[in-house]
Amino acid sequence: MLKVKNLQASVEGTNILKGLNLDIKPGEVHAIMGPNGSGKSTLGYVLTGRDGYQVQGGSVEFNGKDLLDMEVEERAHEGLFLAFQYPVEIPGVSNMEFMKESVNVARQHRGQEALTAAEFLKKAKEACKQVELPVEFLKRGVNEGFSGGEKKRNEIMQMIMLEPQLCILDESDSGLDVDALQVVAKGVNSQRDGKRSFIVVTHYQRLLDYIEPDFVHILSQGKIVKSGDASLAKEVEASGYAWLGQEAESEE
Ligand code: ADP
Ligand code: MG
Ligand code: MG
Repeated sequence: MLKVKNLQASVEGTNILKGLNLDIKPGEVHAIMGPNGSGKSTLGYVLTGRDGYQVQGGSVEFNGKDLLDMEVEERAHEGLFLAFQYPVEIPGVSNMEFMKESVNVARQHRGQEALTAAEFLKKAKEACKQVELPVEFLKRGVNEGFSGGEKKRNEIMQMIMLEPQLCILDESDSGLDVDALQVVAKGVNSQRDGKRSFIVVTHYQRLLDYIEPDFVHILSQGKIVKSGDASLAKEVEASGYAWLGQEAESEE
């Protein structure tokens, strides 16, 4: 589904990603861990085509197409979704209208008919229930005045509604208490269907107790320096990143 080869990218003239490789097949969950500043969010931004991120080299194939050649909207239409580490507030745009427009555009690109108002409302209410967000939140401005945890749950609500193919979750667990963490994990797990794939960026092993990853990768200084199964996350939890840092440095 996703083939990232030797990806190099910079922000404002600083090289951040320095030859990143990642191969994701349909249905797989890949966790990406790594110290602060290692480039985890940058990877999500480069894949989704955020402004200001320059690709210096390498390639990214998504469903056999050149992802880096696509506009931001095209990437979304192809089924790429990013749950932001810091979700943005869009005051004045109702969550409901925002979602309705987005869902129907996504459906159109999948060759599906637009949802009627009643169908949409039913689906939206179900999604809210799944992430334990009161339905009243649909009437508020997108993320406007939401608490940190509510924003994260709203991101997962959007993910459930949009039915993307590849979901990138950037620290959707940060700042959450254990209850909220479980809600987020349940929302993600409900969307695992053997075809949809996930990149789960996290600082802590804790989330991976609830979202069981097929692979765990450690990102350090813009490269994946180690890959393994779920046990690698436990290793990191126990021993931190210092030893990985040294390994990464000695590779250069
Ligand atoms: P992570 O998500 O792993 O914590 P990021 O991808 O957010 O790391 O950041 C990687 C590096 O890129 C950091 O050193 C950060 O300071 C740097 N960086 C991010 N945005 C900018 C920017 N706009 N200008 C310069 N450096 C940036
Ligand atoms: Mg960070
Ligand atoms: Mg980050």
